[in-house]
Amino acid sequence: MTKLFESVRYLKGVGEARAKTFANLGITTLYDLISYFPRTYEDRTRILPISELQAGEPACFRAFVTSSPRTHHIRKGLDLTKLTVADETARLNLTFFNQTYVADNLETGREYYFYGTLNGDYLGYQITNPIFEPAETPGVLTRRIMPIYPLTAGLHNNLISRTVQQALNVCLDGLPELLPEALRAEYGLCDAATAYRDVHAPASLEALEAARHRLIFEEFFIYSVGLTLLRANRSRRSQAPFVIPALSELEAALPFVLTGAQKRAVGEIAADLAAGKVMNRMLQGDVGSGKTAVAAAAAWITAKNGRQAALMAPTEILAEQHARGLEQLLTPLGVRVALLTGAMTAAQKKAARAAIAAHEAELIVGTHALISEATSFSDLGLVIADEQHRFGVAQRAALAEKGNDPHLLVMSATPIPRTLALILYGDLELSVLDELPPGRQPIDTFLVGEDKRARVNAFIRKQVSQGHQVYVVCPAIEEGEDESLRSAEVWAETLQMAVFPDLRIALLHGKMRSAQKEQIMAGFVRGDYDLLVATTVIEVGVDVPNATLMVIENADRFGLSQLHQLRGRVGRGRDKSYCILFTANRNAETLKRLKALCKTNDGFEISREDLALRGPGDFFGTRQHGLPAFKVGSLELDLKTLQDAQAAAATFAASEALPTRPEYQPLMERIQALFASSDA
Ligand code: ADP
Ligand code: MG
Repeated sequence: MTKLFESVRYLKGVGEARAKTFANLGITTLYDLISYFPRTYEDRTRILPISELQAGEPACFRAFVTSSPRTHHIRKGLDLTKLTVADETARLNLTFFNQTYVADNLETGREYYFYGTLNGDYLGYQITNPIFEPAETPGVLTRRIMPIYPLTAGLHNNLISRTVQQALNVCLDGLPELLPEALRAEYGLCDAATAYRDVHAPASLEALEAARHRLIFEEFFIYSVGLTLLRANRSRRSQAPFVIPALSELEAALPFVLTGAQKRAVGEIAADLAAGKVMNRMLQGDVGSGKTAVAAAAAWITAKNGRQAALMAPTEILAEQHARGLEQLLTPLGVRVALLTGAMTAAQKKAARAAIAAHEAELIVGTHALISEATSFSDLGLVIADEQHRFGVAQRAALAEKGNDPHLLVMSATPIPRTLALILYGDLELSVLDELPPGRQPIDTFLVGEDKRARVNAFIRKQVSQGHQVYVVCPAIEEGEDESLRSAEVWAETLQMAVFPDLRIALLHGKMRSAQKEQIMAGFVRGDYDLLVATTVIEVGVDVPNATLMVIENADRFGLSQLHQLRGRVGRGRDKSYCILFTANRNAETLKRLKALCKTNDGFEISREDLALRGPGDFFGTRQHGLPAFKVGSLELDLKTLQDAQAAAATFAASEALPTRPEYQPLMERIQALFASSDA
């Protein structure tokens, strides 16, 4: 019987209190314990004679205690214990701070292994607080590669290490092997027991590397297989095939001609909808590439089939705007559009919900939360999620579980490389809008310092005098601890009082009530304001073609892709548009990053640059993107392993009888556990 899922209390020395402390680290079973991987390692394998120790370089040495330890009470809270040791090459002074117990543990005339770092001052060379153990015992603290664990109050490193060793002794035998043998052979991966043993107690750096490689591979593999199965599972679910109407009817109603890329995407979506299986598709396209028209086409096809479509937007402002735009577009085609947002009154919401339930609307536009709550669709056939980066795997999975398995179209304005797309959206098919509508003028972007403030202000005035509107984006809402950060509240007031007393200035930020935000935004759309001072709430989607200038304060505080998204708020009309990035930052890397934005308007190029400079972890932020938190693997450092694991997962998951084979039971259980926990 495997002891893997025994409580940690099974181990000697782990009582109720210690078990609680372990529980704080998320460790309750022996399996959890051996899966608690070291954060880093200390190489204590180098053993030198004392005479060859180098200042500043940690090493082990074997020596006799030649003088009995003496403790000096220096002052309250400071005790120094001193002694000398020697080998055949030299003598050495050791000093311990506040470790009076060493006096009892170091006997004169006895031999020990020590580990520490030599330091020298005017009193000569010495070592402070070395680690030591009797020379005749096997190396536990010295002469080995020491795992360093992430710590918590009440658990020190040696204790964790010892407890993990105990658990390994009990568990290694019954450890399930999650990776098929053929696959391990193909990719040169060690077996599970070896990997777990060596990751905690590696005999050499090579053994450590092999163990880590195997565990990283395993982690990425499990995730990739999971996504692939999720996708296969969903596409196995059936939907009555949609009849695809002649697209010319839609095209005739559009105020523009679809781009080639839009037509291709609509074609791919139509093929999915007609196939009789549930669609799971991601539509990726730069800001302004015209994703909304593609979404409209999908909704129109759905409505034509007597079904309902829901469009989920990340903010109320966006939901409002989509509803307005789509209503204009689709009403002439006989599609009724309903809006559902938190800003609506209870009575309005009730009426909207009733209309939805009674199938008096074919397209329902709302915020993510409201749409997913409003379960009472009469016949939901398609869900469209706009700006997916707040809409992770878990939410997609949850949605697929809902009622009648609607088709899913996820739209994203963040172009990312294929490898990462596979990890983020491996459960989705991909359509890309790689072409902008014709006649778009590139946005001229400038990086400036405070010395250009007067000229920028003059430029703002010039734009306004030509009847245009201007966005000013600040990184903070209120004045905060960091005084170098421009706050939207303060800056709006400063601009109004001291710089542009005659201009109409409005303020918009995330802490305002939704009704208030709506009001301000609607006012800006109408042209009631010349200047909108805002935080990144305007980041996604907002469409005001008359806005031709965006000024971004503390631009260095934003990611490149985010700046690109922000900048996409201008240049949406016929007039030449500009973006001015203010920064006081002199860091060469930062300036290089920001200059990349001045050089190009191509979102794919910018995200490549962003990824190269910051790495995917920073690029995506953390949890909000539904990106899994990998325990050993790093999306930054282990891209090659990630690619291998993805390739292996694809091959593996393509084999038919897979999930039912008994030998893959442990793997399937791990996958299920992983996706269940990422639901939270
Ligand atoms: P995004 O992909 O950023 O969501 P939108 O769907 O908001 O882009 O489209 C941006 C602007 O381009 C809108 O004003 C839209 O009307 C316009 N547009 C979309 N497709 C075309 C096209 N094929 N030709 C001309 N203009 C288009
Ligand atoms: Mg959009």
